[in-house]
Amino acid sequence: AQSRRRDEESFYRQGRAMSMADEVILRIYEAKSRDVGRSIVRIPIRVMKKLGVEPGDYVEIVGRKTAYAQVWPAYPEDEDKDIIRMDGMIRQNAGVGIGDTVKVRRVSLKPAQRVVLAPTEPVRVDPEYLKKQILLGKPVTRGQAIDVPFYGGSIRFVVVQVQPGPAAYVSVDTDVAVREEPVKETELAIPRVTWEDIGDLEEAKQKIRELVELPLRHPELFKHLGIEPPKGILLYGPPGVGKTLLAKAVANEANAYFIAINGPEIMSKYYGESEAKLREIFEEAKKNAPAIIFIDEIDAIAPKREEVTGEVEKRVVAQLLTLMDGLQERGQIVVIGATNRPDAVDPALRRPGRFDREIQIPMPDKRARREILQVHTRNMPLCTSDDVKLGLCAKGDEVDLDRIAEMTHGYTGADIAALAKEAAMSALRKAVAKGLVDLDQETIPPEVLNKLKVGMSDFMEAMKF
Ligand code: ADP
Repeated sequence: AQSRRRDEESFYRQGRAMSMADEVILRIYEAKSRDVGRSIVRIPIRVMKKLGVEPGDYVEIVGRKTAYAQVWPAYPEDEDKDIIRMDGMIRQNAGVGIGDTVKVRRVSLKPAQRVVLAPTEPVRVDPEYLKKQILLGKPVTRGQAIDVPFYGGSIRFVVVQVQPGPAAYVSVDTDVAVREEPVKETELAIPRVTWEDIGDLEEAKQKIRELVELPLRHPELFKHLGIEPPKGILLYGPPGVGKTLLAKAVANEANAYFIAINGPEIMSKYYGESEAKLREIFEEAKKNAPAIIFIDEIDAIAPKREEVTGEVEKRVVAQLLTLMDGLQERGQIVVIGATNRPDAVDPALRRPGRFDREIQIPMPDKRARREILQVHTRNMPLCTSDDVKLGLCAKGDEVDLDRIAEMTHGYTGADIAALAKEAAMSALRKAVAKGLVDLDQETIPPEVLNKLKVGMSDFMEAMKF
């Protein structure tokens, strides 16, 4: 295998001078059975050359989620097709299915220092066995599922921590730990929001990175400088402007564990157990640090105490304060609270050492709306003037994002996201009405997909909602 690999390697180097691409788009086919469970994908050799990857290199596979795999050459019969073969596990990890397309990119992964796995059902497995028999050489990323053969069946594990994140490969020196406690639902819903998914809000992004990402990633810097990173920050602004999005993005980028709770839910759903629930959440964060606890609508948990009527509410506020005070300095846990009424929050929570930093998230202005539109139409085939010339779009149907930004005064980011979705649905409805798209067909052929465009009239239509 070694010499075969060397042959293949030299073979690839010759091709390196060809036109290179940072990413390619390939259609997904299923893996041949001999490749199942090996964390590999197969792509045509000419595509490997284009990407500048060699057999055994790691690639990033971007679908609805991002997965990682080692790349191997396609089977000869696939060589002239633009396809990628991968098994169900990788498809699940990338959030895609057979027939979908994915973006494939070259990545250079570092060896992992530490990897923590959790089973989906209570079980005890020797971490050394997992490491040597299953994981060695494989790329891992947080949230990834891995099936491990076990007494003739298999048990699913989820990677709950990778250092350094977001992805690395398992080497002989990697410290692999297996948690006994099964994985929780919150750990499966790992936010995949990145800074690019947030339009505008540059100031807020920069502040949150400095206040949250930096201390979580480099606690040694703060220790060295003798300063305390904040334990809590408060995001305030109207609903739908991106507060949750920011918290998820910072968790993702800092490779931190993310727990989201919601003030009203804590108070009602867990009524009578609210304090216990809070303690449980802080405990979970501690176990999985570095971690971010996101409390949406925090004013419901911790309203100004003069507004609080019941004893229960008072005790819940006191409990939250105690938990915040109990967080160790540089404890690698940050609590992010969100509210649209900062002055409704108990002032005791806003004292030093608690939520002592605030970031305001404003309503988007025209320029910001333009950027948010850009984010939400990034993967949409919008009518361009070329499409009009080619007859793919009607005259005057070119999409003018500036004009839409101008017309959407008073829209929040959430409103803009909904507008973009509705415009796409309008385009689809029209295509069905015209008989261009037949929804009863098993798969829609690519030549039909190429004709399906979202036009300015679709946005106008969507604005009526
Ligand atoms: P909040 O927490 O402030 O109520 P969210 O962060 O939950 O709002 O935003 C809801 C949805 O609105 C997001 O999932 C996203 O689709 C969209 N959205 C809001 N703000 C932005 C933004 N600045 N950029 C891109 N999308 C946004």
